[in-house]
Amino acid sequence: MIMLSKRLQTIADRVTYGSRIADIGSDHALLPVYLVQSGKCPAAIAGELNPGPYQAAVKQTAEAGLNALIEVRQGDGLSVLAPGEADTVSIAGMGGSLMSGILQEGWSAGRLAGVRELVLQPNVGEDIVRRWLAEHDYVLQSEAILEEDGRIYEVLHAAVLADAKEARRHNEQLYDASFLSLQLPSAGRREWLYRMGPYLLRSGEPLLKKKWLLELEKLERICRQLELSALPESREKERMLRGEMKQIEEVLACL
Ligand code: SAM
Repeated sequence: MIMLSKRLQTIADRVTYGSRIADIGSDHALLPVYLVQSGKCPAAIAGELNPGPYQAAVKQTAEAGLNALIEVRQGDGLSVLAPGEADTVSIAGMGGSLMSGILQEGWSAGRLAGVRELVLQPNVGEDIVRRWLAEHDYVLQSEAILEEDGRIYEVLHAAVLADAKEARRHNEQLYDASFLSLQLPSAGRREWLYRMGPYLLRSGEPLLKKKWLLELEKLERICRQLELSALPESREKERMLRGEMKQIEEVLACL
């Protein structure tokens, strides 16, 4: 059986046993191959846009002897999926903006019909993905954060509830940021839940703190560069970044 990286294993662990999975942007199809080999998924679809990764997925699937159970399809995002074909959709290793674009197009075209859960691992822009999920009545079930090869990753597991009203009620509770003691209007506080994660923030995950301390260091470096410039735009940008840093520090103090 193939061995997964810690990041892909964290994603695999969140997939519900027995579900038919569609892994979009599958590259070498490692995730679907592992899930079918391990018996967790009876069948899978590996979707890939680009020819190189598509060929890599075809090769990996053939070498694993799984051509009968894993279909590798070339196409853009969820266009490779017909409604009702999958119970779980996973998308990993791309930015949150691209990921939510793929979800939006698939959702508008009805390709997410029948999909009960989404397992998502955005490399950046996690807030964009969380907002998309909440706005489309998906409910986050859990969030994981992990470090591998010097990078910190977040994995989001969201589900479809039977009743959209119930989903909205859940999301209202999940994104109720009143537990954060911040001097911000509630919309601004909710923004921090989208950025840092409602479960991760509530659990006070040490890795979450580490991730945002690294972000603070990055912003500090940018501010130092801006200080060297005499341009009024640089002053304005620095002022904005300092404001953001202050807010990050305030949120971290709540952990
Ligand atoms: N999912 C794998 C993982 O997490 O290890 C591979 C991640 S790789 C960095 C991102 C993959 O997404 C690339 O193979 C790329 O070709 C594919 N990709 C990018 N945009 C896509 C799209 N719109 N539809 C399908 N695949 C896409």
